[in-house]
Amino acid sequence: MTRQEFIKNLTFTTLTMTTLKLSALSKLSYELEETAKMPALFVGHGNPMNAIEENEFVAGWRNMIKTVEKPKSILCISAHWETKGTYVTAMEKPNTIHDFGGFPQELFDVQYNAPGDPVLAAFTKKTVLNASVQSDYSWGLDHGCWSVIKQMYPEADIPVIQLSIDYTKPLSFHLQLAKELAALRRKGVLIVGSGNMVHNLRKVDWGNENSGYDWAIEANDGFKKMILNEEYDKLTNLNALPSAFQLAIPTPEHYIPLLYTLGLKEKDEETVFYNDALVMGSLSMTSIKIG
Ligand code: ZN
Repeated sequence: MTRQEFIKNLTFTTLTMTTLKLSALSKLSYELEETAKMPALFVGHGNPMNAIEENEFVAGWRNMIKTVEKPKSILCISAHWETKGTYVTAMEKPNTIHDFGGFPQELFDVQYNAPGDPVLAAFTKKTVLNASVQSDYSWGLDHGCWSVIKQMYPEADIPVIQLSIDYTKPLSFHLQLAKELAALRRKGVLIVGSGNMVHNLRKVDWGNENSGYDWAIEANDGFKKMILNEEYDKLTNLNALPSAFQLAIPTPEHYIPLLYTLGLKEKDEETVFYNDALVMGSLSMTSIKIG
């Protein structure tokens, strides 16, 4: 290659890159145009087998999603992605992560091939000002996310990104971070918190498939009241609550996604509970639609 050819090539490459950047920018403004406000969801995901089973809870998710306008993208906060710092998945094609053991091969065979959404990931990073959100290229979609979204959108034609849970932060941090995500609801983004309001695996009673311990019922009912009364100080200070709540939430990871959903609630928005049931003694499937 002569020097002249090299310079010509370089100019061409620079021009191409500029064009690419411009097209990415126009995509940014195009993809994130204003829409009607999307609801915010919390889903009690329970057993990973819900991804491939037909039962009342799966039917509940499907019935609820019929009332929701088809989103442009989904942002999921799953109980199963805890990190030091807050991350957002930014890859084009997220892998389906089978982050569990001891289940039938059929569940390991599930691939949920929804695309990622790097533009939404970048927008999310830009939107959150009071915390540093980093791009992640190694996670994907864990079962807290895909086991639920697969049943709502089996076509896998809506891009999905995940936001991680920073396990070093207090509960109030997550509620505040959620408030900063509120703008996404007017960009066609369906935000889904996926966990369980009552979740104590050490107390699971396999012979008690369709009911809960007294303390689990007390905690489930108590959480619902606090949510309706918007008692966020109580909801972020679990240690000050009666012992039923300590038993319900021995570790916070399945509870924190609920705080993301609650933090998105705006003035005068309706809160609807569904799938409101205890299973296996110590798990609650209670799910919420806000707005
Ligand atoms: Zn889980």
